[in-house]
Amino acid sequence: MISHSPAPKRSTEEYIIMTLSGGSCLGVFPFAILRLFEQDWAVAALDIFAVVATASLFLYVFKTHETKIPARILAFLAMFVVVITISLKGIGQLMWIYPALTAVFFLLPSHFAAVYSFVILVSLGFLLKDQLTLFLTLQFYISATATLLFSYAFSDRMRKQQKQLTELATKDPLTGAGNRRAMEQKLLDNIAFQRREQRYPASLILMDLDNFKRVNDKHGHAKGDDILVAFVETIDKRIRETDGLYRFGGEEFVVIAENTSLQEAIHLAEDLRSSVENDGWLAEHDVTISVGTAKYEPFETAFEWLGRADRAMYQAKEQGRNNCCVA
Ligand code: GH3
Ligand code: MG
Ligand code: MG
Repeated sequence: MISHSPAPKRSTEEYIIMTLSGGSCLGVFPFAILRLFEQDWAVAALDIFAVVATASLFLYVFKTHETKIPARILAFLAMFVVVITISLKGIGQLMWIYPALTAVFFLLPSHFAAVYSFVILVSLGFLLKDQLTLFLTLQFYISATATLLFSYAFSDRMRKQQKQLTELATKDPLTGAGNRRAMEQKLLDNIAFQRREQRYPASLILMDLDNFKRVNDKHGHAKGDDILVAFVETIDKRIRETDGLYRFGGEEFVVIAENTSLQEAIHLAEDLRSSVENDGWLAEHDVTISVGTAKYEPFETAFEWLGRADRAMYQAKEQGRNNCCVA
């Protein structure tokens, strides 16, 4: 049934930030030592700062799994260290702009990274205008623009594909509701949260379409599919954005209402039942639902929680269908 997942897996973003910050830390470290030996104090201080900052970011992401702010800090840091190094040591350090440009595209949303990189490149042009010949300036801008465009193309593709993959892995293709795997993950997340913060109750509302086999027989399987889609649209309109709607099985759906007391969940369940009964098109096709509601009880497993909602739903069936029952 529901698998008990071990420690949360690391996301792609975490791996990107940890690779870039860890790699930069190890890469800059020898230079920091070298600059200390050369007694080049300003660059040595900058390099030591970069080593400490990247190591801190690595450890922060490793421990907290948080990525949004560390990604922004690392993108800023990469450009900051490179630009200051170039302004201290001159155009000999210009080649460091290329890895920094690429890193920025992996760390920030593509459009934002493009604008940010463009501003940095123009600023560098002003900073170095006395050191660069016309030919070198052209070479620099053409090669940097090519890097920028390639990085943009790759990161934009990567993000779009990542989004598509997430949708494929978590959504039911027919109705667009969350799939069973997404529901199981959400239940486990909720239980973990409930164990820490018992002040925020969560409730589960299990809905089963009544006599759906008969509906299929009467109107055809294709119409049955349309009904499932219309049903999800009707429910989606009624629930809050934070309430997740999932397809549990063929014609069984689950709403996980977070931060919702049992009383509120009972209200919501009745509201969902009556909105299906009173939806013109669904009513034309004799669609009604039986609903079971269960509030999370401390220390029960996802399997037990779902089981109680399921029994309440069957009770609603026994009471003649088109009904709501509470566990
Ligand atoms: P009850 O009121 O007791 O729930 O009766 P029921 O007929 O709904 O229950 P049962 O579980 O016997 O049948 C469920 C039906 O749902 C059988 C199956 O053909 C139909 N169904 C399941 N998934 C789909 C689907 O994706 N599309 C269509 N059109 N029908 C489906
Ligand atoms: Mg049914
Ligand atoms: Mg069923």
